[in-house]
Amino acid sequence: MKDLSKLPPLDSECKTLFINHMGLFTQGKDDWLEYSYKMEKLFARQRLCCITDEDKKKIFLAAMGAKSIKMAKAAVRPKSLEDVSITYEVLVESIEKYLYPKRDEAFYIKKFTMRTQWPGESFFHYVGALRKIIPNCRFSKKNQPSKLRNQIVSGIGESLKETINPNSVSLSQLFEVGLKWDKSINPEAPPRKRNHKAKINRVPKCFRCSVALSEHADEPCSFEWAVCSSCKVKGHLSIACKYKDIACNKCQGVGHVTKICKAK
Ligand SMILES: [Zn+2]
Ligand SMILES: [Zn+2]
Ligand SMILES: [Zn+2]
Repeated sequence: MKDLSKLPPLDSECKTLFINHMGLFTQGKDDWLEYSYKMEKLFARQRLCCITDEDKKKIFLAAMGAKSIKMAKAAVRPKSLEDVSITYEVLVESIEKYLYPKRDEAFYIKKFTMRTQWPGESFFHYVGALRKIIPNCRFSKKNQPSKLRNQIVSGIGESLKETINPNSVSLSQLFEVGLKWDKSINPEAPPRKRNHKAKINRVPKCFRCSVALSEHADEPCSFEWAVCSSCKVKGHLSIACKYKDIACNKCQGVGHVTKICKAK
């Protein structure tokens, strides 16, 4: 495949490359889940050329054959495809609902196990996406954390995978390593709407994962299943622990509380 990221987003050549790479979507023949994930990955690779949601919608619609356009129209009814409220994301979701009216556990389990980390996607965002699918998979409550762990281990990108031992890493360790990896890839927080009155260095942070609260965008934290390695309390990560910088009374080591000190 040619490198799409070198082309301006709405270049007609870019559209052609997209179609060449994706092929036309044919209802009844192609698997929508596979197609839409493949498309997300392709768009993710193009992040460098700042492709907007609107561009994605245009390119995607241009890549659909006449029959599929009919299907897309039916999927968003009573709204029309041109409607501004039908964003790329809404469109993809509407088609999913339309093509899979009965979305049962098997559907969501497939969606879950197919969901890998997209190129350029943060670990934080990846875990959030998995956590959104997981309740629909109907795994038993007890099994959910290990299912999440296994999917993260197999789904993360190569550069992150290199830093873990897939056989022994725990979910909490994965969380810690993944969020650290995010910081190494993207040392500065992406620009956000800033409150003029707020002091820049006092960004409110999540008590569970220590990521800026604004990143959670009103959604529950994806890291609540963590067990803290500094104090062994459930529900937060060591990076967010209030004891992480306090020295242990017993061994004077930093990073754990006296109660769980292993020194004799
Ligand atoms: Zn959080
Ligand atoms: Zn803690
Ligand atoms: Zn100690």
